[in-house]
Amino acid sequence: MLEVSIEQFGYDQQEQLLGPLKFHLEAGEHLAILGESGSGKSTLLHLIYGLMDLQSGHIQWKGDPVLGPKDQLVPGAPYMKLVAQEANVMPYTTVNENIQEHFSRRNPEQEATRTEQLLELLDLVPFAKQKVKSLSGGQKQRVAIAKALALVPEILLLDEPFAHIDEFRRSRLRRLLYNYLKQEGITCITATHDANEALSFADKVLILEAGSVSFYGPPQELYKNVSSAYQAGFFGEINALEDGRYLFPHQLVAVSEPADFSATVHASYFKGSHYLIHAKNGPQEYFFNASDALESGTQIHLKIQD
Ligand code: ADP
Ligand code: MG
Repeated sequence: MLEVSIEQFGYDQQEQLLGPLKFHLEAGEHLAILGESGSGKSTLLHLIYGLMDLQSGHIQWKGDPVLGPKDQLVPGAPYMKLVAQEANVMPYTTVNENIQEHFSRRNPEQEATRTEQLLELLDLVPFAKQKVKSLSGGQKQRVAIAKALALVPEILLLDEPFAHIDEFRRSRLRRLLYNYLKQEGITCITATHDANEALSFADKVLILEAGSVSFYGPPQELYKNVSSAYQAGFFGEINALEDGRYLFPHQLVAVSEPADFSATVHASYFKGSHYLIHAKNGPQEYFFNASDALESGTQIHLKIQD
């Protein structure tokens, strides 16, 4: 298992970016690190990968320490791969050559099969013989992932892997990739600021706030227990109640009799299967779902659904 314990880390002596921060991950588990931009997600992945030395704390995989640059010349352990936010690819060679860079060339047939499998997994078949520099940002990112998987790692660190990939392809790619990683038993940590990504594809979610763990647990638990404005911020429209509770739109319904809250409709937004209604009562805002649009100015009563 992976054990991470960072007492404190900062880029210069004055400033602390991470810590105290502690978590562990079982082999084969998928973790999503959710944090706002600048919260230290990339830094945390770089530390886990061993690109920088920890100032205090330890990181271990299966009981052995992950070494930083102080203790080994070439950063990164052979069992771990990092797909950095700026896709690390070789621009002047083809997609095939990128994937095959670290192959031994001793089993050409097996290596060709592996290349084919990765091209398919990452939707790269049509680009196999193209130079990487001619590809789009999202395509380069997919090449970087294929390259990281070429020699099957035990741990895969993905830094915002779908950031440059359009929605059209993103959900299919995510599904294929995370299913594949599960099937192969590859432990995976994905840094993201997208709560939906974290909820649907991770076994555990870690919310990084001010360098520490604001939540760590299964996504179902997070969804049931959003407990701060920072956590709520990842979910878009959410009801922040005066008493400190956070409710998702589907947890409120409009009813005909006075109930938990009263408000005035401000706007209705079409969401395909339903409308999202935005209502207000003074400074308190409410979001809930309805099957039809409601006219702005309509007085409504809202009831909490358990
Ligand atoms: P995230 O990935 O969550 O957006 P980062 O880990 O990239 O966050 O950055 C966290 C903070 O550390 C930011 O304020 C960033 O400016 C700073 N930082 C990142 N890399 C370096 C570096 N190499 N040297 C100095 N400061 C850095
Ligand atoms: Mg980052």
